[in-house]
Amino acid sequence: MGEYDIVVIGGGPAGLTAGLYVSRSGVRSLLLERGAFGGQMINARIVENYPGFPDGIAGIELGSLMQEQASKHGLQTLFAEVSLLVPGPRHRIVTTEGTVEARAIVVAAGSHYRQLDVPGEKQFVGKGVSYCAACDGFFFRDREVAVVGGGDTAVSDALELSHYAQRVYLIHRRDQLRAGQVLVQRASDEPKIEFIWNSVVEEVTGDQMMNALKVRNVRTDKVHTLKVAGVFVAVGIVPNSQPFADVLKIDDGGSIVADQGLATSVPGIFAAGDIRQNSPRQIASAVGDGVTAALSAMRYIQTQI
Ligand code: NAP
Repeated sequence: MGEYDIVVIGGGPAGLTAGLYVSRSGVRSLLLERGAFGGQMINARIVENYPGFPDGIAGIELGSLMQEQASKHGLQTLFAEVSLLVPGPRHRIVTTEGTVEARAIVVAAGSHYRQLDVPGEKQFVGKGVSYCAACDGFFFRDREVAVVGGGDTAVSDALELSHYAQRVYLIHRRDQLRAGQVLVQRASDEPKIEFIWNSVVEEVTGDQMMNALKVRNVRTDKVHTLKVAGVFVAVGIVPNSQPFADVLKIDDGGSIVADQGLATSVPGIFAAGDIRQNSPRQIASAVGDGVTAALSAMRYIQTQI
């Protein structure tokens, strides 16, 4: 399938930015993406904290603009899923479309939604269980729904859902939210949002569609049935590091360990965005990572000539 100077794995904001920088510099480059360009940001109905867009921008539009810009500068892309990395003087990347060789690699493969792993969750995906309020919230107009989690995503989702739903229960396993103060204040001020503290979901139940959750209070151990038409699971994300785990140093949370220049434990392989350790997991920080990793990768290949 070819030899490249730099191959970027992943077409989210980190990968597309790395791709823009390397292709604009004229190095032979390729970006591999397994799904859709834009990564997780395509699920955001509106992105309010990416600089340059004072009125916010739809995540899907921002992703498409980033891809268009990188393509204009000559970035080659290929839809393929990476299954294995084989490091060497020329690193080999095994994909569903064949094997590619690269002198340097930027791994920007992002992350996916963590699941609750409770009975009924898998069974009712798309039948009431969702991981994306921006995508599916609309279907729950005037219904009662629940959100699980206490981070920025859970609270943003609850606020998003309050535009449609009649009532939104926010179920959190502790009595304090992890989310930032601005979001917490907005949620506290929203009368449609009701907090269910110190509680975990034990089961999703229903018939054709889900219609209730079994919720256990972790302090009293009491279980009650919460009748809701939908549940939005927002309990964090898991880095997509599995194909790289045998080759690169990975921390306990599954993130790729990288230094300040985003070099990983293998020379010539760099990590950017949500997949790297201590990522702030913001679009803007992923973009910054894309720049850092691209510049480091270009510097690396110059030293190898
Ligand atoms: P997160 O910050 O890791 O929060 C995950 C939440 O889920 C935590 O409250 C955690 O509880 C809870 N949780 C984890 N596993 C659970 C389980 N098995 N059962 C029940 N609850 C569980 O994840 P996130 O909210 O997706 O945010 C990820 C990153 O994206 C963060 O850095 C966040 O700041 C960023 N983000 C920013 C925005 C924004 O608008 N600026 C929006 C979305 C996300 P504990 O608190 O008890 O650990």
